Amino acid sequence: MIKKFLYALWLFLFLLGIFVSVKNTNFRNFLAMIENRTFDIRQNILIKENTKEPSEDIVIVAIDDASYEYILDRYGEWPMPREIYVKLVDYLEKYNPQSIAFDLMFVKSMKSNPKADKALVDIVKKYDNVFVSMNFDNQDKSIRKPPILPKNLSVNVYNKSPLVDFTGQTYSNCRTILEELLNSTGNVGLINVTRAEDGILRKMPVFLKYQGKYYPQLGMAVGLHYLKAHKQFAGKDFEIDTRSNLLLGRRKVYLDDDASVILNWYGTNQSYRYIPIYKIIQIINGEKEDQNLDLDGKIIYFGTTAASLFDIKTVPVSRTYPGVEVQATYVNNIIDDNFIRKFDRSFTVQLGVLLALITVLIVMNESSAFVGSLAAFSVYMLYVFATYYAMKYFNVWIDIVYPLLLAIATFIAAYIIKYLIKSRDFEQQYVLATTDGLTELYNHRYFQEQMRMMVEASKRYEVPFSLIILDIDFFKKFNDTFGHQAGDAVLRQVAQTLKKNVRTTDIACRYGGEEMSIILAKTDYETALSTAKKICERVSSKNFKLPNGKETTVTISLGASTFPQDGITAEELIEAADVRLYHAKNNGRNQVGA
Ligand code: GH3
Ligand code: MG
Ligand code: MG
Repeated sequence: MIKKFLYALWLFLFLLGIFVSVKNTNFRNFLAMIENRTFDIRQNILIKENTKEPSEDIVIVAIDDASYEYILDRYGEWPMPREIYVKLVDYLEKYNPQSIAFDLMFVKSMKSNPKADKALVDIVKKYDNVFVSMNFDNQDKSIRKPPILPKNLSVNVYNKSPLVDFTGQTYSNCRTILEELLNSTGNVGLINVTRAEDGILRKMPVFLKYQGKYYPQLGMAVGLHYLKAHKQFAGKDFEIDTRSNLLLGRRKVYLDDDASVILNWYGTNQSYRYIPIYKIIQIINGEKEDQNLDLDGKIIYFGTTAASLFDIKTVPVSRTYPGVEVQATYVNNIIDDNFIRKFDRSFTVQLGVLLALITVLIVMNESSAFVGSLAAFSVYMLYVFATYYAMKYFNVWIDIVYPLLLAIATFIAAYIIKYLIKSRDFEQQYVLATTDGLTELYNHRYFQEQMRMMVEASKRYEVPFSLIILDIDFFKKFNDTFGHQAGDAVLRQVAQTLKKNVRTTDIACRYGGEEMSIILAKTDYETALSTAKKICERVSSKNFKLPNGKETTVTISLGASTFPQDGITAEELIEAADVRLYHAKNNGRNQVGA
């Protein structure tokens, strides 16, 4: 009864655990965080294996520490005068680069120089491959009035996916750049990023929503420019299909639920080709001779890496990753069509259930717990390896944490159930091995065992115990008269009478044939004698039912003995009780022998 209750309680708690783990957002986020870390580990191993080379078509012009010092020395201020950027763009355009992108914002500044600003606007207008950046935020409307952006900056997005949700990519305000700049080019990208709960940047937005319209992320804008130049995509209309793919020509870029792409990382830090900006400034200022920088057809990204300006991001492969390199990685993913694809939640649950089923099969079919555990954990290891190779060869992120958690929980549950069933079987076997089938009293073997133990215990604690042996009178004749079936029925009923008339601590056994015995713990001879007499009376006064429906009476003869006065071994005590039983028989039966 209690066991059944425990079973039910345990099953209930197990199901409750699963239910809570699926429904509770905190717990889900916790699991997602660990899952994200497994992604990071996979990415780091893949990078060490050198399977993914950063694109040589991407070059970063860095405002690094040396450049920062050079600029302060030469111009006495940061940011450096905008004329320099104008000269830089003009110079770099001679190489016919694919594009020039600024991961720097040209905002309205306090000491604005209208002439320099105009020159910057003109140069951006002059070349249609120069990209500038801007970012959205949620600044209070009373502090900054949300600006209205030029029409040609937005794109059309048709989201047919039931999962992809732009809520997290929607902003209410915009930190704008020079108004003239905004109005003079269509090449404006947002530099907002997507961060996970743990603050790590694994994903990037594709389009961001502002005032009901969609605007491309800078990396997306630069990547699209590349695809258009290579005739792999055209137009300003984008479709996200029902399976969460952003369709870019023949490319299908998978979007996670928060309308972000999952980046595939190429290197740990400064893995792209870097040119310190001061080296180019030296050339344009005539301090150094011009040299071939090999920038034809390249995507040139301007960004800061100097310690004091450092736009630091924590990404799966590094804690200090230059923001500009995140952009580079994004573009690299677009060029290589190499984004990470994540399977949806229902697939993850299916994998978990599959692992759980395999676990149950192993536990059920393997008798050795050691081999069973080994087999189950080998399957789990194989699964982990499979997820690694899926990422390596197919850019697929298969969840590890949830399926493994489900499998391990099942493993533990399966072993607990198996153990409980085993212990129940063991108990049943023990009962079978110690019980007499006909009378349901303890059997002879158990009697002998208990006698030995009782002798040991009574010796140690110096307490008496007693033994009663009884035998049914004229039972041979009874069998001959009424038949063996009737004899069996009487035997059973005598046994029941015995059980009813002894204490729970007393042990009633079938000694053999129609002889029975009772071991009475902590009982002296007086008490044993009165118990024997009571049983004798109860049997003789009882009507025994026969299989044919008739009733009859039987009598028994008994003999008792007590430790230590009648003997100090089991054999001596049995012998003494037997002698008294023999006296009872000789003295006319239906009595306790003296
Ligand atoms: P006494 O009063 O001297 O004990 O006479 P008795 O006939 O009972 O003596 P005895 O020990 O010679 O006979 C025991 C009989 O008990 C023999 C056997 O037929 C019967 N008997 C023993 N075990 C069983 C059993 O399991 N079932 C049935 N029906 N009879 C049994
Ligand atoms: Mg007998
Ligand atoms: Mg007998």
